[in-house]
Amino acid sequence: MLPNPVARSATTGLRVDVASGRLLSARQVDSPNCDERPVGQAPELVVVHGISLPPGEFGGPWIEALFTNALPPAAHPYFETIAGLRVSSHLLVRRDGTLVQFVPFHRRAWHAGDSRWRGRERCNDYSIGIELEGTDASVYTPAQYQSLSGAIAALCRAYPGLSPERVVGHSDIAPGRKTDPGIAFDWPLLRTRLQLHLELDPP
Ligand SMILES: [Zn+2]
Repeated sequence: MLPNPVARSATTGLRVDVASGRLLSARQVDSPNCDERPVGQAPELVVVHGISLPPGEFGGPWIEALFTNALPPAAHPYFETIAGLRVSSHLLVRRDGTLVQFVPFHRRAWHAGDSRWRGRERCNDYSIGIELEGTDASVYTPAQYQSLSGAIAALCRAYPGLSPERVVGHSDIAPGRKTDPGIAFDWPLLRTRLQLHLELDPP
């Protein structure tokens, strides 16, 4: 089955343009931290993450700075420890639900690190990474669940290899090493919202 050329979520209006690999309503900020997926590899997994910079602080410009290799090490003691990282995600969901895209979906973003899902290593090869601005223990906002579920529904429509069963947390694919999106993340709420989107507007 070929991907839908423009896959749309009826409930949120979110659409993925498969040719460009862009979520059309997301703000686009290109990250250099990406490369090609293995030949012929389409997205088959969504990995949900949590991030805040500095840890526990929301709303600053620092996540975008990290993903564009522009984090000033002197701006915060924590930044000195991560300023050399070369990382990215495909999407970031800010606390107000705003979506920012750093890497086209058909390209490989660098978010999972050493990882394994159902026996398959190197999850970056075949996954889409979505960062939620937050911490493991602070409640994620309703706007974030709305944007996240709408974006994943649009991705499921765009890429036949994706489905609600193929959405995991970073902690699921790197257990013992990663804990995000954390105990605060409401998986049943995400799955209920996602199911609703897909029932209202099936792939
Ligand atoms: Zn993560």
